[in-house]
Amino acid sequence: MSREQLVVQRARKSFQTGKTKPLEYRIHQLKNLLRFISERRGDIADAVKRDLGKSARGTELFETLGLEGEINLSMEKLAEWAAPRPVEKSLLTISDEVYLQPEPLGVVLIIGAWNYPWAVTLQPLVGAIAAGNAAVIKPSEVSSHSAKVMEELLPQYLDKDLYPVVTGGVSETQELLKQRFDHVFYTGSSTVGKLVMEAAARHLTPVTLELGGKSPCYIDKDCDIRIACRRITWGKFVNCGQTCIAPDFILCEASIQSQVIEEIKKCIKEFYTDNPETFEDYGRIINQRHFKRLMALMEGSTVAVGGNCDESQCYIAPTVLKDVTGESKVMKEEIFGPLLPIITVSGADEAIQFINAREKPLVIYIFSHDNKLIKRMIAETSSGALLANDCLVHFTVSALPFGGVGNSGMGCYHGQHSFDQLSHLRSCLIKQLKMEGVNSMRYPPHTAKKLGWARFFLLKRVNVCRLRRMALLATLAGLAAFAVQRFLQ
Ligand code: NAD
Repeated sequence: MSREQLVVQRARKSFQTGKTKPLEYRIHQLKNLLRFISERRGDIADAVKRDLGKSARGTELFETLGLEGEINLSMEKLAEWAAPRPVEKSLLTISDEVYLQPEPLGVVLIIGAWNYPWAVTLQPLVGAIAAGNAAVIKPSEVSSHSAKVMEELLPQYLDKDLYPVVTGGVSETQELLKQRFDHVFYTGSSTVGKLVMEAAARHLTPVTLELGGKSPCYIDKDCDIRIACRRITWGKFVNCGQTCIAPDFILCEASIQSQVIEEIKKCIKEFYTDNPETFEDYGRIINQRHFKRLMALMEGSTVAVGGNCDESQCYIAPTVLKDVTGESKVMKEEIFGPLLPIITVSGADEAIQFINAREKPLVIYIFSHDNKLIKRMIAETSSGALLANDCLVHFTVSALPFGGVGNSGMGCYHGQHSFDQLSHLRSCLIKQLKMEGVNSMRYPPHTAKKLGWARFFLLKRVNVCRLRRMALLATLAGLAAFAVQRFLQ
């Protein structure tokens, strides 16, 4: 029996004891997870520094702060989320209990990615614990230092059988995927997402796929270009552009291209100094393979800002590419690095056409003062999310489901959406063994023998509200007739 098989078997056995059912147990584990983050902040920051060259402040801001917020929210709201959810009643269920009961799915497999190794791996875990599941955690082998710290330290805080960490590379992930899970939550590329879904399909296991893609950013010529460029520069170059929701490319009219370049250039200098290579908040490309991939993507495009690099350090400066076309190399795949191409279009019509001619992105950004144009972009395109006049921040709004559509993924999470995603919302209808007489009332002879009046109503989907309205109208009409009669006497 493989290590992976054993781990899953142990998690399932432990789940089957019913240990995770009481909410107190889940809250206890969530508290431990919170304690892990606060007590091991230093270990987490060191690991991320070694993986991605990120500063401790950057790790706090982009990895642990959001996680802590999600854990606190889950603890605060758990009783509400886990409670039965009454649904609308019909005439036939008027005296019954009709509700949805969230219940745990079972054993969840969480496969994380390397770019925010803690946030994208532990955030789904928060939902899994809150929803009462067991979870096998597979951090990305690419962010190896974070994976090692997670493997060594997390079991000191969480139940080892219910929430085991399995490290390893592709073969270990594939071995895990051969096992039967009740849900697979995957974060990573669309290519591997297809393999994950294929493996899950063998067990009819549902999947959440948090994927990536090319997220466009349209700048309307009538917006405040200086502010737009500040926000875009921040959203693009944070974590060296290795952010799934980073604006992948800019679409704007040719008349504003040079202004956009100048403003972004100023912002790069302001945010990362004249020499980003020595600035502590500007990280590194994760490894040489991605470094080479990114350098190759620049081929055939004109560098307008940056462009310098150091292979030994996996450093690529914040770079803007101009006069790029849809056919350029850099437009053939998700960039996932600090390269920002600008493609000129004749206006919003062409920008919308350009977006719609490609895969549905994880997010579309639009910068404009014109609310009508923003609404038009929402109406005429499709993407996981749309954010107007800012970058990345929709990720922090727990009330908004975070996820893709089409090639950018399926399913969603954050806040209650994580809880619901990893729960089964079970339909419950509790009737009484009374009023059998209602079932014996017959509808006209041509209908099935045992079809009572009540069932006829059910099949006809009688609208209780409408019936109530009709009854109210009838009463009012009766009262009016009575009043008129009295008046005439
Ligand atoms: P990665 O290489 O770390 O792979 C992700 C996971 O897939 C790892 O745990 C790895 O072990 C596993 N894996 C890799 N190859 C596999 C295979 N052949 N079979 C089975 N498992 C395999 O990460 P990546 O794919 O380079 O991640 C980058 C992508 O992730 C980008 O496209 C990015 O946009 C996306 N991403 C999306 C989100 C989101 O929330 N939507 C967040 C972060 C990253």
